[in-house]
Amino acid sequence: MSYKTLSDVKERLERLGSFELNDERFVEVAEQAIDNETQQPKDRLLYAYKNLLAEVSQQMNQMDDHMGMQPTCQMGCAFCCYFPIIVTKLEANMIIRGIESMEEEQRDQLVQHLQSYFINQKEKVAACTSLDFEQGEIKHEYMKKQLPCPLLDPETNTCMAYEWRPLPCRTYVNYMDPKICEKQLVPEEAVSFEFLYEDYMGNLNEVAQEIAMEDGHAIDYPADVFQYNYLPVFLKEWIEERE
Ligand code: SF4
Repeated sequence: MSYKTLSDVKERLERLGSFELNDERFVEVAEQAIDNETQQPKDRLLYAYKNLLAEVSQQMNQMDDHMGMQPTCQMGCAFCCYFPIIVTKLEANMIIRGIESMEEEQRDQLVQHLQSYFINQKEKVAACTSLDFEQGEIKHEYMKKQLPCPLLDPETNTCMAYEWRPLPCRTYVNYMDPKICEKQLVPEEAVSFEFLYEDYMGNLNEVAQEIAMEDGHAIDYPADVFQYNYLPVFLKEWIEERE
């Protein structure tokens, strides 16, 4: 199979200049969540998280069509699951609620996996999460330690909370030979669509604000929206609280 060259990918990425992002769709999803009186405030927040992320994926698909190329990322290829994943406390809480909503057997397996993970990976987790992401670029340092994401299934190399994975896991894409991710810690050829973060988070914040006004117990606002940390830190706290 022949893969696209870097210059071809760059040329196609330039076509995004004429792509019209449908930011109204993000607003519509947020409004649907706010106006849905049949759901509890907490459930409406979860709805907004899930559906705003679905919209991110949808807009990325449309961009791929516009550029005339498809990602070469495949199931079972998980080099990007060794990247630092930094999320807000609100997003971490949504992932945790997503896990809690799983079928009992699946949830119990995942919880057991996380309990073992935080014992077996104790040193690496401490070393990686002590890197100060607010003080500059830490990707290379973090990747050198080869700490898998806590949610990565080591047997299948797939995400154990795929439906609930946060934005960085969705917006990092390779259009070239998948081997570039195997050969380099941080491939410069990979593409990040993190510019979608603004529409996603801006609208999630709108929903969070509304929900907080309705039910002060549903979310600690604005703290949950502005507290950033590594995903393993939030998951570790959750697992420890359960014990
Ligand atoms: S949340 Fe899932 S997709 Fe994202 S890094 Fe972790 S295992 Fe990979």
